[in-house]
Formats: sequence, C-alpha cells, structure tokens
Amino acid sequence: MIPNEENRALFMATDVAHCWHPFTPMSVYADESPLMIESARGHELFDCDGRSFLDGVSSLWCNLLGHQHPKITSAIKNQLDKVAHTTFLGNSNPLAVTLAQRLIALAPHGLSRVFYSDNGSTAVEVALKMALQYHQQSEEVEGHKRTRFLSLGLAYHGDTMGSVSLGGIGGIHDRFQALRFDVVRGPSPYCYRCPLGEDPISCHNDCTQEVVDLIEENASTLAGVVIEPGFQGAAGIITYPEGFLKQVERATKKAGALLIFDEVASGMGRSGDLFVAKTEGISPDLLCLAKGLTGGYLPMAVTLAKEKTYRAFLGRPAEGRTFFHGHTFTGNQLAAAAALATLSTIAEEGVLENVRALKETLTKQLLDLRDHPLVGEIRQYGLAVGIEIVACKTTKKPFPVSERVGMKICRYAQDKNVFLRPLGDVIVLMPAINFSTRDLQRLVSAVKYGVNTLWEEHQDTEARQNP
Ligand SMILES: *Cc1c(COP(=O)(O)O)cnc(C)c1O
Repeated sequence: MIPNEENRALFMATDVAHCWHPFTPMSVYADESPLMIESARGHELFDCDGRSFLDGVSSLWCNLLGHQHPKITSAIKNQLDKVAHTTFLGNSNPLAVTLAQRLIALAPHGLSRVFYSDNGSTAVEVALKMALQYHQQSEEVEGHKRTRFLSLGLAYHGDTMGSVSLGGIGGIHDRFQALRFDVVRGPSPYCYRCPLGEDPISCHNDCTQEVVDLIEENASTLAGVVIEPGFQGAAGIITYPEGFLKQVERATKKAGALLIFDEVASGMGRSGDLFVAKTEGISPDLLCLAKGLTGGYLPMAVTLAKEKTYRAFLGRPAEGRTFFHGHTFTGNQLAAAAALATLSTIAEEGVLENVRALKETLTKQLLDLRDHPLVGEIRQYGLAVGIEIVACKTTKKPFPVSERVGMKICRYAQDKNVFLRPLGDVIVLMPAINFSTRDLQRLVSAVKYGVNTLWEEHQDTEARQNP
C-alpha cells in the first residue's frame, strides 16, 4: 500500500464508523491523534500516511525485542508450514512441551509445572482457581475454608471478573462491583500519595506491616496473596519499599496461603532477569507470565506452579480432582514457536545484560527531569518508568482530569516522532528491552519536549488568567 493522507483518512472514517477501542473514551478518540499503523520494523512504527514513530511503550508493554525480529518472524513462518494450531486438551505438541521445559529450566527454583492460557487476565484467573481448588484437595483438614484472596489497593490483574475482583483501581473496577467477589485489601505501596497518610521520609514501612497484619488476621481463610512484583503497572509504575515483598512472602508462607506473582507486566526481562521473583530472591507458589512471553507477537500466557500444588490435582478421574479449566487456543504452536524464539534471542543476544546497563543509563537521562516544576515523581523499576505529572510540585495537586495532560504530553512527544501511551497523568516509558542507548536518548528527549511544551502552555494560561 502506498502511504498517503487519503488512505489514512479513509481508514479512520471506517474505524470511527465500526470499531470500539479498549480503554478508550470513544467520544474523543479520533481527536487525540491515534496512529493507523501499517507496518513496523525494529523499534519504528510506520503509520499509513508515511510518518514513523519510535515505539516508546513496546506496543503496550509486550513487544520485547522489536518488530519483524528476524528470529521470531522466521520461527513463526517455519511453524506455519507445519501446523498453526491443534488442541492441548488431553493432547500435546512438541513446541508447547519444549517451551514448558525451557521455562521451567529458567524459572525460580521450585516451579515445575506449566499451565498454558492466552493472556494475562486468564493467567491470573487460572492462578485463582488453582489456588482455591488446591486448598480443597490438599491434606490440610480445614483447607476448604481457604476461599479468600488478598490483593493490594491500586492493583491491576486484568479484565476478566476474577482479575477485576482483585483489582483496586476505582475508575476501572468499581463499576463492576455487583459482579466482584470480596477480597482482603492491603494498602498500595504508593509512597508519593501514601494511602495511610504517612510521610515516606519518617514512616516505618507501615504499609508493609499492614499487609503482614492482614495476612496474619486472615490466616485460616486465605487461599492466596496476589501481588504484581517489581511494580504495580497500571497504577502508574508504583514501586515497592525495601523489604515489602520479602515480608509479604514470609507472612504468606506462615499463613499457609499460596503466594501468587503476577509478572505479566514486569517479567520477561524488564527487571534485568527473566523473572522478577529471581531479581527479588523470592519463591512464589504460582507465577503468571503473558505480555512479553511471545515477544509480543502472538497471544499466549502461562501460570507456573509447584509440584506440591500440582500433585493435589492427581487421583482417579472419578474422584473429580481434575483442574477443569482450559481455553480453545491453549498450547498454540505458532505462539509457542514465537515464545521459544524470544527466549533464545534473549539468551543469545545478551539482552538481559543490555537491560542491566540500560536501566542505569535511563536513570541518568531522567535525572534533570526530576526538578521540573510539573514532575511530581519519577518511579523506575528496571526498564519501566512512570513520570507523575502534577499541577503543583509543592502541594502535589494534580491537574483536573478533564485536561487529560498525560495524553497531551504524549501527543507532543508524537510531534517528535515518538509513540507513548500514558496512564492518566503518569507518562509511561516501557522501551523494548533490546533498545540501544541512542533509542533511549530519542525517547527521553521526546518526553522532555512534551513536558516542556505543556509547561509553556500552562504558564501562558496562568499569565492570561492573572495578567
Ligand atoms: C496487562 C496486565 C494483565 C492483563 O493482561 P491481558 O493480557 O491484557 O489480559 C494482568 N496483570 C498485569 C500486571 C498486567 O499488566
């Protein structure tokens, strides 16, 4: 297709006529400069009007190694000449088997079983149902009483109802209250706006203590504790205070509940290790991966489990211990081929070493932005960054929601040919993990340009209001 403005306009008209986009206020969608991506190569996205953009959020946090990566592309093409999909229900295929073996070899010690599904939400649903059924079938006499889960304020674990029940982001989750099950809710470790009203300088990790207390108080009824390790992603890349995860691990084990790590966003290399659990030295009972698992090429997710959990599901078929959960495309061969190529590429191309070096570079590149009058806080975990924009640095007062300043900054960055997608007023940087220092420089410059442009606009408005 020859790139041109007319083509773009035609597709946009059809889009507006027929499509309904996820997490998108459709009344303003067309006015907020959406991209109409026709192709992409490496870290560059090509709009059908011929413009190109650096992909600053790895196509919503999943495109780990760039687009049209030769190894992943050829793995999928080769597999397509054999078979695209056959069922994994009571049957098998060499690719899903090999991928399971590879994942277990790389996973934190103790995880030995792979359950496939299709996306992050289902990986979490699987973990919830597994944990619940596990306790019913474990040797614990009162195991059937373990029916509750603990999750954190501002948590995001996906959009299916189990995941929505765990979720703690009011604007996204409260609407569905009538369908949600009740959870034990711990405080988010959001130090910048502490939910317990503490000052991060003088507090004694009260949020950690509160979560530990909640686990202890509910010890006999908790089936599992669900955490996004590394950072609470959708909340705005909120990182944990020192010791938080370790203490939660200890309390969860002591309570006899299962520790469930949702590494859907933070796993697959972004921390500098393939698994955040390894970076943090923690041994979860269930671990969910999705987004980056196939390099962002095809939908696939896994829930990893320990042998002890798995064994509770064994027995004669008539006993009904079977885990009755599964999706049509479970163990899909094309996706497994993409995931295997992703894992090999990460190992062969020194990608984790790149992340470890690059995350320091990123911190340095962002240093001067910390003092910017519109920047409340910059949070970083590995190669994930959240820049919280505020109207007043001193009072931390946010901009009115109606101003959509996060979106505005991203649109200014788009004028510098960088694609970003914010979380409210938090600007998210989620580069591919094989970015070069130069790619990173381009990304950070565009963000600074966006923030400065908003600042100039903000000052103009203030000058007009108070002449
Ligand atoms: C994106 C995300 C999910 C949901 O994954 P989907 O593939 O969108 O269903 C779950 N947990 C976390 C932490 C995520 O970031």
